[in-house]
Amino acid sequence: MEFFDSHAHYNDERYDEDREIILREIYASGVTNAVCVGYNFKKSELAVKIAQSHDFIYATCGISPNDIEDFSEENLKKMERLAQNKKVVAIGEIGLDYYWNKDNQNLQKEIFIQQIQMANRQNKPIVIHTRDAVMDTIEILKTYPVTKKGIFHCCPLNPELIKEGVKLGFYISFSGNITFKNAKPEKAIAQVPLERLLVETDCPYLTPEPFRGKRNDSTKVKWIVEKIAQLKGMPKEEIARVTYRNAKRIFEI
Ligand SMILES: [Zn+2]
Repeated sequence: MEFFDSHAHYNDERYDEDREIILREIYASGVTNAVCVGYNFKKSELAVKIAQSHDFIYATCGISPNDIEDFSEENLKKMERLAQNKKVVAIGEIGLDYYWNKDNQNLQKEIFIQQIQMANRQNKPIVIHTRDAVMDTIEILKTYPVTKKGIFHCCPLNPELIKEGVKLGFYISFSGNITFKNAKPEKAIAQVPLERLLVETDCPYLTPEPFRGKRNDSTKVKWIVEKIAQLKGMPKEEIARVTYRNAKRIFEI
């Protein structure tokens, strides 16, 4: 079985000690493609650097709603130059987060929109981070359509968001949170058509059961595939194959 981890952060400090070892391990485990996702300028630059030195790793660049202090005209210009690198497959993660940041919602929206426009100029999809901001996220996507669409990363298990996201042509990516004991992912997973489904680890965060509490990495994406297979009543090989194919399609790899 081959897996595509559509969202990982090998640019995180927690891999500084053993990044090369982990990347070799994940490839050996069958994760033959993974996207290293940026969230501010420096981490986007590092994501590109990692992607450039590993054939099977791709990168995204963008400023997340939790890294707003990184936003400036100058950084946005630098980011757009970085986005032209051929290993950059999307702009992200970008979006809205009213859970961690309630006081700067208008600024978050403005920066989200500016980066959607950048994605459209670069003809790339976007990777969306949205938390406690469902309606505003959907409204922005309707008002500022993304030419190449994109992905709801670590998609909240919110029926309205999934319904609207799928209708808008976006992909839905599930992470380790669907394996957590208190999660109720059945309905959400049933809502996503197979051809829009993706899997991700969001490592080093969101380690799936039964490894919760440990540092996450892409070898654990198979637990998410397994959980979805179980809920859809399908063989895990089929979920691995479908999510792999979907990721290649949206990232144009
Ligand atoms: Zn992330």
